[in-house]
This record gives sequence, C-alpha cells and structure tokens, in this order.
Amino acid sequence: MKILVLNAGSSTQKSCLYDIISPKNINLPPSPLWEATIDWTLNNRYGLLKVEANGEKITHDLSVDNRQTGIKTMLETIIDGKTKVIKKLTDINVVGHRVVHGGNKYSQATIITPEVKAVIKELIPLAPNHNPSHLESIESIEKINKEIPQVAVFDTAFHTTIPDYAKIYPIPYQYYEEGIQRYGFHGISHEYVSQRTAEIIDRPLNSLKLISCHLGNGCSITAIKEGKSINTSMGFTPLEGLMMGTRSGSIDPAIVTYLMRKYGYDGDTIDEILNKKSGLLGISEISGDLRGVLKAMEEGDIKAKLAVDIYINRIQEVISSMLPCLKGLDALVFTAGVGENSPIIREKICEKFDFLGLKLHHKKNSQFCQDTNIATDNSSVKILVVHTQEDWAIAKQCYNIMNSQS
Ligand code: ADP
Repeated sequence: MKILVLNAGSSTQKSCLYDIISPKNINLPPSPLWEATIDWTLNNRYGLLKVEANGEKITHDLSVDNRQTGIKTMLETIIDGKTKVIKKLTDINVVGHRVVHGGNKYSQATIITPEVKAVIKELIPLAPNHNPSHLESIESIEKINKEIPQVAVFDTAFHTTIPDYAKIYPIPYQYYEEGIQRYGFHGISHEYVSQRTAEIIDRPLNSLKLISCHLGNGCSITAIKEGKSINTSMGFTPLEGLMMGTRSGSIDPAIVTYLMRKYGYDGDTIDEILNKKSGLLGISEISGDLRGVLKAMEEGDIKAKLAVDIYINRIQEVISSMLPCLKGLDALVFTAGVGENSPIIREKICEKFDFLGLKLHHKKNSQFCQDTNIATDNSSVKILVVHTQEDWAIAKQCYNIMNSQS
C-alpha cells in the first residue's frame, strides 16, 4: 500500500511516501521511498524544496509562496526526474495528514469527508497557525484527484481519554461548555513512543505506567497508563505547561491582565510575547534553540544558565505532578530534538528523581542512544530514549484504517 504522509507546519511542509507491503513488523519503521520538505522560513518569500529518494538528493528554490502550488511542484518529483519512485500520482493508495487540532470530536484517525473538513475549519480559531495549512494540503490533493482517499490523524486524538478532572479548567463551567478545556498536543508522538517503549522493554503496553517527555521546539509531557493518555501538560493551546524554545509555558494568568493594563497591550501583542519572545529565548536573550543556549552557558553566560535551570525545573515539576495520577512509574521516556539528543538535559532532569530509585546509566546516557534503556540495571524505573517517528505513526494509522475498510 502506497501511503503519502503530509505534515503541514505553519511555515514548513514535510512529506514522505511509504510502501507498506506486509502488515508484519508494522511497528518497525521502514525507510520511506521518497521524502521531501518545503521550508518557507529560509528564503524570505519563496520556499526551498529538498527531496530525497533513490539515493539522490535534490534542492530547488520554489518560485511560489503558496502551499498548494508548492505541494504540486513537490509531488511532481515523485513521478518525474531522479527522485521518481512511482509512475503516476494515482498509484498512491491513501494520503495521511497530521492535523494539529481535532477538538474533542475525534478520538482516532478519520477518513476525510466534507464534514471532517468543516470541523477542521471550525477549529481554526484554536489552531490559527496550523489548521489552515492542513486544509490547504487536503485541498491540494483533491485538486490532483478527488478519488484518492485522505485520512486525518489528529494530534489531539490521543488525549481524548484524559478524565474530566484533569481536562476541565476551574473557571465558570459555561466556558467548558463553549469548548474551553485541556486538549493536549503532540499526541501522535506520545502514542508512538509509548508503543515503542513497550516493544523495547518487552512488556505489554496495557501493563505500563509511563511518563513521556516530548522535548523539541515545542515541549510537552504526558502521563500514559495502560496505553492511554491520562494527563498532559499542554492545554487549550500548545502554550500551556513546560518552558519551550520561544514559548513561556504556564505562567500566572494575572501577569497577562497586568501587562494589558500597564502597557495597553492587545491580545495579539500578548500572544507574540508569550509564544515568540519567551521561553529559552526570552530568558537567555540569545536563542530559542537549546544548542545555542547550552553553548553560551558553557562559556559562562549567566542568563543562559538561568534559562537552562528554569527549563529543567519546569520539566521536573511537571514530571512530579504526573506521578500521583499514575500511582507509580515503569519508565520515563525522552523523545524529540532535545530529548533524543541532549545527554546533559536528560542527566539534569533525572538527578532529582534519585529518591524514586530512578538511576541513570551515565555512560549509556552520554553515548549515542536511540530506542534504548539508559537506566542502570538496578534502577527501579527504566529511562528510555525513543526516536519519535510521527510520519511513520501516521502511515500506520492510514494502513489500519484502509485495511479495516476493505
Ligand atoms: P520540533 O518541535 O520543531 O519538531 P525538534 O524535535 O526537531 O523540533 O527539536 C528541536 C530542538 O532540539 C531545538 O531546540 C534544538 O536545539 C534541539 N536539539 C537538537 N539537537 C540537539 C542537541 N544535540 N543538543 C541539544 N539540543 C538539541
């Protein structure tokens, strides 16, 4: 089954094509036949397209600034030139889309119908940077051929199992009735790493109590019991919870009203401050990229050290807050850019949990580790580094949904 995955970010378009021949070993990700990315941040107005397939790598400057034409050009590289891997686009059996916000309606991947599109559209006010891009990608495929089935895989779906007491904010109930609640995000990643963890430690997922730390540019932590999300740090929007690259994470909400009154800021200005100017960037005044902040810290920069200290403390606070609802912990799981690649951050996080009997194997932690347990043999909690594979997780869900239909 040829599955095209389209992952539309606010200023990027990542895509890959998988060919799943047999359902066996479906949890072991194969290499995609073809991979492409368009990045609209590198080249001012125009996107930069990079494609990899057949051992070839090509790069194009796109002379277009809109996603639909960009996707059309990108998909031509699947059927033409050095990166050609299939004869015609209609050989694609299904297209899977990562959709950031599915509200509370969708608890699993869903075939895209006009109704599903209408829901994605309705939710634009809750995900203004993402849901419009998803609709554009869906419509790009419709323009190529309306008959190719399309599937939406929602980042919110995994969190629909969170119980009401963790989902509903303690503000007047009428706002919950209007849709203000914890939705949670990074669900595709948290679900995937929980399944991989069960495989790696060779235990049934439905027996496990896990804390999954997705630490990338965006950061979130999820408590997963018996394969289900029971709490997560992101909330109504991806701003809540941990300190992130440029996002503040949770702050006293009265700071917002204070700033509005003191400086006359409007909602857009507050959004800009909390989403784009805070986090590692806001404190270090150097970068929202952790590598830059760690380098400055090593060189003795005091604000960079403070930024890292706050970042770590926030993660430790959230991990601690997840323990009572899990009533125990079998494994602490690290994933995404920081979680997979930064031994120093993993070490700093773990050192405060010594009292739980959680013991990091320092040598294993400092070496390249992927899909491995980096705890000592006598640690009472396993510590895993798992490479998140959101695109593969989307492809798998498409495979399952198509198979269940045939
Ligand atoms: P996104 O959330 O955009 O998908 P990623 O998961 O790619 O982001 O994570 C990006 C973050 O990972 C950046 O802050 C980057 O600095 C960090 N990162 C990547 N490699 C390393 C590394 N070796 N050490 C520390 N941080 C790293």
